[in-house]
Amino acid sequence: MSEAPAFQNLIGGEWIPARSGRTFESRSPADRSDVVGVFPRSDAADVDDAVAAARRAFPAWRGTPQPARGEVLREAARLLRERKEELARLMTREMGKVLVEARGDVQEAIDMADYIAGEARRPVGQTVPSELTDKVCFTFREPVGVIGLITPWNFPIAIPSWKLLPALLAGDVVVFKPAEDTPLCAARLVEILVEAGLPPGVVNVVHGIGEEAGAALVAHPEVRLISFTGSAEVGRQVAAKGGALLKRVSLELGGKNAIVVLDDADLELALDGAVWAAFGTTGQRCTAASRMIVDRRLVGDFTALLRARAEALRVGDGLRDEVEVGPIINERQLRRVHSYTEVGVAEGARLVTGGAVLDQGDLARGHFYAPTVFADVRPTMRNAQEEIFGPTVAVIAAQSAEEAVAHANSTVYGLSLAVYTRDVGRAFRAMRELQAGIVYVNAPTIGAEIQLPFGGIKGTGNGHREAGMTAVDEFSERKTVYVDYSGRLQRAQIDT
Ligand code: NAD
Repeated sequence: MSEAPAFQNLIGGEWIPARSGRTFESRSPADRSDVVGVFPRSDAADVDDAVAAARRAFPAWRGTPQPARGEVLREAARLLRERKEELARLMTREMGKVLVEARGDVQEAIDMADYIAGEARRPVGQTVPSELTDKVCFTFREPVGVIGLITPWNFPIAIPSWKLLPALLAGDVVVFKPAEDTPLCAARLVEILVEAGLPPGVVNVVHGIGEEAGAALVAHPEVRLISFTGSAEVGRQVAAKGGALLKRVSLELGGKNAIVVLDDADLELALDGAVWAAFGTTGQRCTAASRMIVDRRLVGDFTALLRARAEALRVGDGLRDEVEVGPIINERQLRRVHSYTEVGVAEGARLVTGGAVLDQGDLARGHFYAPTVFADVRPTMRNAQEEIFGPTVAVIAAQSAEEAVAHANSTVYGLSLAVYTRDVGRAFRAMRELQAGIVYVNAPTIGAEIQLPFGGIKGTGNGHREAGMTAVDEFSERKTVYVDYSGRLQRAQIDT
């Protein structure tokens, strides 16, 4: 195999190595002998340089008219569209999701670039009547300044684009620390932004390990905002450190999403949704459904059919056309997924299918796990409470629609919940009662579109919403302005 290409950080428009000279590799999870690239292993010194470069770029970028900033994003959309297939193939090689899903990931970035470029010419503030005469009141949006973005590996182009593109439109300057499992996807995305005309220093990329480069970014006093997507465990640390420094911290964390199947549901439709939501992206989506909460009258049939569907799935290298379920991202995560099989068995759940590492033939080259179904799971068991982030699903029986909703709400997370029913009243009650940022009716827990707000409640997030009409809010400040042209002192609340 030829030598793997070396990549650099992007700081102040220059592609440069880490100051320490250290590096790390990105390897394909479908074939661990395939080194996708070698990347700088950055630390606090590199983060310092990146923040300084961003600060230098800020005045000019902030002063660039918003429609002109939008033009860069429009060009980025064009380049992304032109390179969609190349990017998708690279993504499948670097992180494993099957090609058709990788294309969807890139498409999400294209959609976001189109959407945010359009935002460039839309109104950004409010004009509000004053309670006093000869006085005008209005608001406008301002950039936050130097911001830090930290992203996970599971949507390696889509998630960075959800953050980068609105932040750039807002006029922020960015230090971006991508996931160490998918640095190449991040590098290609940023190359496109540079090619689209982004001035030097506006986006800086610092590759590296979370505890090193990521932690240094969160701790840097001149980074005013951290936008983080990743696990609840790390999110808690980021929030604590950022909070102590009075930073704005926006968090998009884990999920323990459920599909609720009521007794009047279309069973085949629910199964189609269950298979897609549980095993798509090998269960490695924040919105993956890892719990199926099924009315007791249907649960036997549902479990038998889900088993048959899980056993029919073809697992392998996502670059192969026939493959439906790709690898697990890395060895640590493979071990973690298997440990939850052991937990499920130990807690007395019934292992219906799967529950094993797949290492026969070509699969021995990578990290593969059999689609796994547990039945007779009680809602309090660990497999029903904790995020596994793999192709493992727990089937839980419910006695009634009310109990099903209560089970769905019984975890610390609140990202995405779905209900299958043909009864409009039950559907509306579920919409109201389900505790999640996103609710689906007769559709699985995955399928978010970029023109709507995305985010979770409870342990999944801290109140921010990415995408949709709120996309730019996360990355900007609102300034309120009062102009009094009466020529005299007018006191609000007193001289009215
Ligand atoms: P992770 O928390 O391990 O890592 C996320 C990012 O944080 C990486 O870039 C990592 O390098 C960095 N990091 C790690 N330790 C850090 C530290 N101490 N300080 C600063 N940064 C640090 O998560 P992951 O394994 O990459 O992604 C999977 C998780 O992400 C799952 O929990 C999943 O549910 C969640 N996720 C959530 C959403 C959402 O929108 N809610 C979307 C995708 C993924």
